[in-house]
Amino acid sequence: MSGYSVINPATGAVVETIPMAGVEEADAAIETAAKAFETWRHVAPGDRARLLRRFAATVDAHAEELAALEVRNAGHTIGNARWEAGNVRDVLDYYAGAPERLSGRQIPVAGGLDVTFHEPLGVVGLIVPWNFPMPIAAWGFAPALAAGNTVVLKPAELTPLTALRLAELALEAGLPEGVFTVLPGRGDVVGTRFVTHPAVRKVCFTGSTAVGKRVMAGCAEQVKRVTLELGGKSASIVFADADLAEAAAAAPGAVFDNAGQDCCARSRLLVERAVYDDFLALLEPAVRAFRTEDPRLETAQMGPLISGKRHGVVKAYVDDAEILTQATAPDGDGFWFPPTVLRATSTQDRHWREEIFGPVVSVLPFDGEDEAVRLANDTAYGLSGSIWTRDLGRAIRVARGVEAGNLSVNSNSSVRHWTPFGGMKQSGLGRELGPDALLAFTDVKNVFINTTI
Ligand code: NAD
Repeated sequence: MSGYSVINPATGAVVETIPMAGVEEADAAIETAAKAFETWRHVAPGDRARLLRRFAATVDAHAEELAALEVRNAGHTIGNARWEAGNVRDVLDYYAGAPERLSGRQIPVAGGLDVTFHEPLGVVGLIVPWNFPMPIAAWGFAPALAAGNTVVLKPAELTPLTALRLAELALEAGLPEGVFTVLPGRGDVVGTRFVTHPAVRKVCFTGSTAVGKRVMAGCAEQVKRVTLELGGKSASIVFADADLAEAAAAAPGAVFDNAGQDCCARSRLLVERAVYDDFLALLEPAVRAFRTEDPRLETAQMGPLISGKRHGVVKAYVDDAEILTQATAPDGDGFWFPPTVLRATSTQDRHWREEIFGPVVSVLPFDGEDEAVRLANDTAYGLSGSIWTRDLGRAIRVARGVEAGNLSVNSNSSVRHWTPFGGMKQSGLGRELGPDALLAFTDVKNVFINTTI
């Protein structure tokens, strides 16, 4: 096994060196998970539910420790990291209700009884990115385990620490060995092995659209099930009749949260021309007030970017563009980048079209509802977005018109663990969270029983 040095992005210091699995270790973990599946799938629903509740309680008891670990490993603010650990607990609790409710159907037929079963798939391979290491892992492993599958999880190279700790907590909670395994390794080694190994029956991938396409193409070889949660370039649309003060106050959080490293970041801001200047005047102080500081501080609203490489990428977008407002960020060690507002001159601007994945928002005026929808949809992505207006009819028309999986009106919320989450167009395939995600970890089996003999 080779080693990988995990860096604290707020300081640039090495936190820990983690062994990286190769193909042999991946094969061994997958085979162990395949064996564990044979017993886990037959654990009585009530017992599986109880084990998941215990896992949730164990995560809860260690929430502060997990949060502190994420601050060190990913540079998340302590407030966000606490929410993320709590989200793992809540997602586990939510899907702990599933094993006892995974009902099939009884369908009327002549000469017998016809019933359906939601059968687990087998081993599920989860590939997780670095931007939200804990929640994205849980959105995959909690429903997968609840439905009776076993899971091998590959965290992102940059952020393996909380996933490794969650695997220890699962064992402590009583999950049998091999049911949930975390395997740090390279994407093109361990991640690829999840795609090619025949015992892995589903790949749940969250990451870039480019890699997601490769994963999907690879899975096609074995008709392997796949869920993809990919990139985004989401729009906030602010109409002239909106509560402009509310919309402007909420806009920085909608894009700078997690330093903009959020697939749902509202990184395109469409403002109706009649209120464009007024809105920018309200936006500027809100952006300047956004606190970028040591993520361990309770007051921090934003920490650093994840890596020096990402810092270079984000900076290149800003170097090429007209800055409308730029707040401040700490200097010195760490990968700090200040919250930045750019003027978009046309929809062809690179910063308007491409996912920057940093604390950068581009602003463009529009004229009227039709143009707003057309501009919002002028992207290959379709993950999220917001609509700000006091006109309810318009809010509903625009929400139906925008091609994105998760929209909010007069709010920037995207994620509740009990409602569906996922992308349209090139932002993804399938849905996570909510009542339906569970079924994506099962296949329907139909059984006819002849009652005439
Ligand atoms: P990435 O695609 O480079 O990596 C994601 C994961 O895939 C990592 O674990 C990586 O090791 C692995 N990987 C890399 N190459 C692989 C390969 N050839 N085969 C299998 N696995 C491979 O993405 P990233 O830079 O870590 O994450 C940022 C991207 O993720 C952004 O585009 C963002 O929008 C997206 N994202 C989307 C969502 C969502 O829910 N839609 C959530 C978070 C992040």
